[in-house]
Amino acid sequence: MGGRLMAPMALFSSPRPRAKRSPVPTDAGHLDAMARLLRVWGENAFDIDQIDATSFGERCEAWARHVLTGSPPPSVRKKSFGDADGSAPETRRHYADLLKELKVHRKNEASFVTQTLSGLKGAVWDVVTHLREAASGYARDDRVMQAQLSRLEVVLESDDVNAIRNAASETVRIVSDNIAARQERHTQQLAALGTRMKTLESSLVEVKSLNNMDALTGLHNRGALDETLPRLVTMAALSQEPVSLLMVDIDHFKKINDNHGHPAGDAVLRSFGDALVRAFPRKSDFLARYGGEEFCVVLPNTSLADAKRLAERFLEELRILVIRYEQASLQITASIGVAMVSLSESSEGAITRADRALYAAKGKGRDRVMLAEPPGFRT
Ligand code: GH3
Ligand code: MG
Ligand code: MG
Repeated sequence: MGGRLMAPMALFSSPRPRAKRSPVPTDAGHLDAMARLLRVWGENAFDIDQIDATSFGERCEAWARHVLTGSPPPSVRKKSFGDADGSAPETRRHYADLLKELKVHRKNEASFVTQTLSGLKGAVWDVVTHLREAASGYARDDRVMQAQLSRLEVVLESDDVNAIRNAASETVRIVSDNIAARQERHTQQLAALGTRMKTLESSLVEVKSLNNMDALTGLHNRGALDETLPRLVTMAALSQEPVSLLMVDIDHFKKINDNHGHPAGDAVLRSFGDALVRAFPRKSDFLARYGGEEFCVVLPNTSLADAKRLAERFLEELRILVIRYEQASLQITASIGVAMVSLSESSEGAITRADRALYAAKGKGRDRVMLAEPPGFRT
């Protein structure tokens, strides 16, 4: 809207009875007042659908000149005034046309103002409704916001443009404060959540690693082996490097339990685990307690021959290891089956072959290393 909204002038707003319309102002004072009135209307015009503010202002100015000087009125063609260049102004005034135009314009203005106001009120209602929904759920800040929205709703019932404007800008201020406060709260909540997530994450890592550990020996457990071995085999296939595995079982372990008690057996299992860690110190070596007194050692990037050599060296060290438990000095041996993982078989297949070799070692008298048969070998 180009011009300022202004209450349309009452002077032209209501039709007068025909009989009273005739006495037309003729003296200079009246004409002057009428021209001034037209100019004020023109200066304060605003855009409406039918005519923009500038054009209406120009028409008011032309009518004012017509009233004062008899120059051609804007709505009447010049030739009807006799002299084409307006050098012979008429004494006759076209008050009927002026009145008609102003009446029509006043009517247009009134319906434009009504329409605009109701459109504006509708839009503000929409905003209020959405804000009400957004505000529900937060306690303190939103009580202030809800109260302001109620005030705005009351004001919207009226047609008081100034009151609507004031209430709307106060609402905007309160809503902005509210949003800023919420943002601050959310930032704090997110930070707290981040800290909690980190704590949770580290406890999860801890739990997961505990879950993968054998509590007695501190080595990996069977679950971790089942999870890791296929991964190591896949990596080996990709890098074309050999992976060997050892199945290791303590000889006559039952006798330790029987002769010295279960806790002594536990102590032996712990010491055995430590001895394995010393014998297979590479970071990539994967040591697991397979179950009971049986262990599995996975050796990435290790050929069958190297694995056999390492296994035999471990048995040598084991032979001279003395495990002290209370008064007792315990000594143990172990049997080992060694297999190189074939790229064509599953990791379970390799374990089975190594296990068979282990039991062959038991059969041959224990305390020895036996190599597994290649995959697919039938006895
Ligand atoms: P072999 O030379 O043929 O392997 O004989 P072994 O006695 O070592 O094997 P066997 O399977 O006969 O006995 C294994 C024993 O290990 C039986 C079981 O009670 C014991 N055992 C298994 N787990 C544990 C454990 O966590 N702690 C203790 N102390 N003993 C265990
Ligand atoms: Mg055994
Ligand atoms: Mg066993």
